[in-house]
Amino acid sequence: MFGRPPKKSDNSKYYDILGVSKSASADELKKAYRKAAIKNHPDKGGDPEKFKEISQAYEVLSDPEKKEIYDQYGEDALKEGMGGGGGHNPFDIFDSFFGGKPFGGGSSRGGRRQRRGEDVVHPLKVSLEDLYNGSVKKLSLSRNAICSKCKGKGSKSGATSRCAACQGSGMKISIRHLGPSMIQQMQHVCGDCKGTGETISEKDKCNQCKGNKVVHDKKVLEVHVEKGMMHNQKITFQGEADEAPDTITGDIVFVIQVKDHPKFKRRGDDLFYEHTLTLTEALCGFQFILTHLDGRSLLVKSTPGEIIKPDQFKGIDDEGMPHYQRPFMKGRLFIQFHVDFPDSGSLSPEQCKMLETILPPRPTNHLTDMELDECEETTLLDVNIEEEMRRKQQHQQQQQEAYDEDDEPSGPRVQCAQQ
Ligand SMILES: [Zn+2]
Ligand SMILES: [Zn+2]
Repeated sequence: MFGRPPKKSDNSKYYDILGVSKSASADELKKAYRKAAIKNHPDKGGDPEKFKEISQAYEVLSDPEKKEIYDQYGEDALKEGMGGGGGHNPFDIFDSFFGGKPFGGGSSRGGRRQRRGEDVVHPLKVSLEDLYNGSVKKLSLSRNAICSKCKGKGSKSGATSRCAACQGSGMKISIRHLGPSMIQQMQHVCGDCKGTGETISEKDKCNQCKGNKVVHDKKVLEVHVEKGMMHNQKITFQGEADEAPDTITGDIVFVIQVKDHPKFKRRGDDLFYEHTLTLTEALCGFQFILTHLDGRSLLVKSTPGEIIKPDQFKGIDDEGMPHYQRPFMKGRLFIQFHVDFPDSGSLSPEQCKMLETILPPRPTNHLTDMELDECEETTLLDVNIEEEMRRKQQHQQQQQEAYDEDDEPSGPRVQCAQQ
């Protein structure tokens, strides 16, 4: 009845991932997570991305507060609340369930625990128009991707051998002689294997990635800037950062940075606009066209007989910013009016008389000669009040500084005692 219904946010994905209904109890959620996590654990050959999704779904649905946000507004709202980070390390949740020994033996994971790759954060400059209308930004990013040919093994055969330079530790220790009896031991990443502890023989190297396991990849991301998004709001692309073997890929996070607008200012969901009237318009009425952020022309006019005072605000309902995720609701548009008085006042006595027939007359304060005799004459000078205030402040500061100096103890200052 009133415009379009709100877009339904997707809030069933997490339930689908765990394979439970939206009314699942805490117990059912636990069971579903346990089953799915074991089945998809990377140590059992599961897909790390899928494992991450399962952990995330459980992390949210097992937390009443997060669950409520998710049920109401979907995944994006939650990402906001979590500061855009992809939640916790999925292995931590898993470990809290199984005490770190998921598959009995205790030795199954050892050094093969997967690291989580770093998130990559990019600022995303947008205009106020983008946030009013919503927009899609296409961004081309280059990143490392697991080599498709060798599936990240680096070799044709899939075999690797222990790095001879570091004996498979990935680190090398070098000794520097600093003097006749002084040496410095330094540990650094092995250059031969780049810290992996493995080498691939020259002729076995994958010819697509040259044994690097990853290749440079250009990827175009479509960033959907939604109506009503805020400055500093984050848009997260899960698992789109640099890929590396045995690593859970980090996220690419865009942080919205709103450029200043020449006409409009935003405060929350409200917009502010300044407009200058001539004195005649302020007194006799006005109309003007305001071009909105979506290009619409709004006719703004005073009601007949209305007088606008300098710096007065007027508001227009529903012409502010759209609410995030409820764009059919909008804030208000406030217009602040400035009034330009005529520059040089040179009204003739006749004109003044005419004005006084329309405007309230001047207060009658006829002064008697005796009263005038008792007064002292003054002269009104033109001043730049901002300049005057600035000078005054500077003067006060200088005085304060002088006072502070006087306040210091007169005796010799105590130095730090030397040991
Ligand atoms: Zn090495
Ligand atoms: Zn390769």
